[in-house]
Amino acid sequence: MPGDRSGDVPLAPGLYLVATPIGNLEDITLRALRVLRSVDRIACEDTRQTQKLLNHFGITTPTVSYHMHNEGQRAEELVHALKQGARIAVVSDAGTPGIADPGHEIATAAIAAGVPVFPVPGANALINALIASGLSTERFTFHGFLPAKEGQRRTALEALRAQVGVSVETHAFYEAPHRIVDTLADMETVFGVEQAVVIARELTKLHEEFLRGTVAELRAQLASRPAVRGEMVLLFEPQVSSAVAHEQRSIAAEVAALMQAESLSEKDALKRVARERGMGKSEAYRELQREQNRLR
Ligand code: SAM
Repeated sequence: MPGDRSGDVPLAPGLYLVATPIGNLEDITLRALRVLRSVDRIACEDTRQTQKLLNHFGITTPTVSYHMHNEGQRAEELVHALKQGARIAVVSDAGTPGIADPGHEIATAAIAAGVPVFPVPGANALINALIASGLSTERFTFHGFLPAKEGQRRTALEALRAQVGVSVETHAFYEAPHRIVDTLADMETVFGVEQAVVIARELTKLHEEFLRGTVAELRAQLASRPAVRGEMVLLFEPQVSSAVAHEQRSIAAEVAALMQAESLSEKDALKRVARERGMGKSEAYRELQREQNRLR
């Protein structure tokens, strides 16, 4: 392990991306403490926030601010110092830097400047929500925060719905407590009330909880609380309910599937599809023709 192989060897020059706890101070690692004690300075998303952590562990290393508003300019200054041989740690307010937090830009700049970059692993909300969610960990996609605006949020969810049947994976989002009920309502519309969802709330903290159920159940449960508080991760494996699937699948595809599976004539298959969709026969026929014309 380069950089800081043992406690006796001085820390090598370079950039250290140090994970800090997401609620439970016991989640700081021995290595993180040693690195934070040994570096020349610590670049913090919020110096006041990090100072509390440093005070708790008796660390007196100087701090400097490094946040989304000064990321570009500060990265330049820090990389300049790194090129001269400095040892600099980057921490965010909580968790792993660079994951929905500052850290990526300076890591890229340091790499481009030929400066060694060392990850110092630790707490992260996404990974810990995922491993205890019960959902598939084999393939997953992290999306950061969903858009705050309803229209954009729906579009983002619809894009995931379009992948159902193409890829099977868990999708994970960070979500704000004041938006979660609206987000669940959008999910109900896009995926149907039966969509299974997991919400991991207040991970590693006293009131940690995992809510598991259908999107309709969790929405009702959260909406009935006087206030929804705390930090949370939302996870689900998209599945499309039969009602929503009907809307998505073309009449032509359903007719063709029935003709093949049950050896029905096109006329009988269309009659069945129309009945299942609650449409009149002639309405279904017109829609089938429109679909066929679009394909020509
Ligand atoms: N860099 C952090 C990490 O490694 O997880 C994430 C920072 S991001 C600005 C903050 C979001 O992460 C919160 O809004 C929430 O969605 C999620 N989060 C952070 N701490 C959490 C916790 N203890 N429990 C659940 N979610 C958490």
